[in-house]
Amino acid sequence: MYTYYMGIGSNLGDREGYLAFAVDQLCGVQGVANVEHSSWIETPPWGPVEQGPFLNGILKVQSSLEPLIMLETVLHVERLAGRQRDIHWGPRTLDLDIVWIEDGAGQCVEVHTPNLVVPHPYFWERQFVLEPLQEVYPTFSYEGESIGARLETLRVLES
Ligand code: ATP
Ligand code: CA
Ligand code: CA
Repeated sequence: MYTYYMGIGSNLGDREGYLAFAVDQLCGVQGVANVEHSSWIETPPWGPVEQGPFLNGILKVQSSLEPLIMLETVLHVERLAGRQRDIHWGPRTLDLDIVWIEDGAGQCVEVHTPNLVVPHPYFWERQFVLEPLQEVYPTFSYEGESIGARLETLRVLES
């Protein structure tokens, strides 16, 4: 059994509705045992494209699905939510990113394939990922740094 920590976001249409839709869809997938989520937080858009604010959070999912199958599953849920892939980093109804995976022993699972890279390459740079991750996983640390310390650093860099 794996524990998946997934970033979830929406900045188009009924944002809260899309996040709830994703939780609901994942709960119905065979091989997914449990879905918990952080609070949803409103965050400014990230990257070069001008667009509306996001509603972001983290899903914590217990699942027997292998990482590439989980990726297919979340891409399918994005499509069901009407996600269009036109502008890179552009506005979207639903975005689901696999941020971090642990195996049954609590060890980090790394994936490096053309379609899936985990840990997610930018997660440690993104406040909108780390804030909700801290809520569902307060003892999280990465490369010797606690998530609390990392968030402090990012807040200082931002101000
Ligand atoms: P970012 O990944 O920087 O947050 P994005 O979420 O906007 O950008 P997408 O257009 O949603 O990027 O995804 C493009 C592709 O990224 C997906 O089709 C998927 O194959 C690939 N990908 C690689 N690693 C991951 C991951 N950890 N989680 C989700 N998708 C991933
Ligand atoms: Ca993303
Ligand atoms: Ca994505």
